[in-house]
Amino acid sequence: MAKTDLKSLTINELEDFIISLGEPKFRAKQIYQWLHEKRVSSFDEMTNLSKSLRAKLAEEAKISGLKIIEKHESSKDGTVKYLFALDNDNVIESVLMKYSYGNAVCVSSQAGCRMGCGFCASTINGLEYNLLAGEILSQVYMIQEDIGERISSVVLMGSGEPLDNYSNVLKFIKIANSDLGLGLGQRHITLSTCGLADGIDRLREEDLQITLAVSLHAPNDEIRNKIMPVSKKYDMNRLLTACKNYSDYTKRRITFEYAMIKGVNDSRECALELAPKLKNMLCHVNLIPVNDVKERNFIKSSEAAIQEFASVLNSKGIETTVRRKLGSDINAACGQLRRGYLNNRR
Ligand code: SF4
Repeated sequence: MAKTDLKSLTINELEDFIISLGEPKFRAKQIYQWLHEKRVSSFDEMTNLSKSLRAKLAEEAKISGLKIIEKHESSKDGTVKYLFALDNDNVIESVLMKYSYGNAVCVSSQAGCRMGCGFCASTINGLEYNLLAGEILSQVYMIQEDIGERISSVVLMGSGEPLDNYSNVLKFIKIANSDLGLGLGQRHITLSTCGLADGIDRLREEDLQITLAVSLHAPNDEIRNKIMPVSKKYDMNRLLTACKNYSDYTKRRITFEYAMIKGVNDSRECALELAPKLKNMLCHVNLIPVNDVKERNFIKSSEAAIQEFASVLNSKGIETTVRRKLGSDINAACGQLRRGYLNNRR
């Protein structure tokens, strides 16, 4: 039977696990502290546990971990891209972004992805593995340790669709948010989805205060279908209804991500068509100059087109910003570093 990864358990789940081993409940808190405060990687280091309990844990459980295999630092803005190896030989990537208000880490929730977004390198070979909560957490822990500074926010915006790995991602959020863990406020956690409307409905019912970012990338289904296959399952009407319900219920502002792709979705008409669909929703739009992906035929929009698109939306009362592009000299876009590494390995 597969061993239980203790780093992926919430404190309540860890208590249940410890009780199932015939141990007193308070041991769970000790183990949780070893894993999430002191961040040890072996049971032998848990020196306030008896030798027999440590041996029992080693038999029944494991502690997931990662190894840094590559690290690239941008000379332009200090962004650092990490390539990590998982215990099962998969590789994933994470990005450290340094802002004036603190350090943010963009984590991966899956190795590969099955969503098929047309501008994304992560999806080219499909989904390979759903990360455990402990493996998502480890990306933050390892980067924090590597730089010796606190990470103040986390975005689930690396490889993978977080709502396609729902239960592991939810556990990650709970552990990262727990006072005995990272102690990261929910408002400092952003989950980015390509638009799984059912998942957004489910997330709403969790009653969390995290920030939801939705990759919209088009003003209508016709264009969205060309870029994002997910829209054939959840059309814009269904998606925007889920978003409206989410923001009405949580009172949290939704971020709509919009990758600007030359000649595809970046015209003035597109902006005029999009504006009324977002009216009356607590939201803002983030325009992103799309990253060139060799395997795909998308080119980023001109600066003038991006500025015009932003000014049309702003003039219609939809708050819109243009995202600063970080780490452009180190393949910091979703999936590019991992893809380069795998191509070389193959
Ligand atoms: S953009 Fe995100 S959801 Fe879309 S294919 Fe890439 S990793 Fe998956």
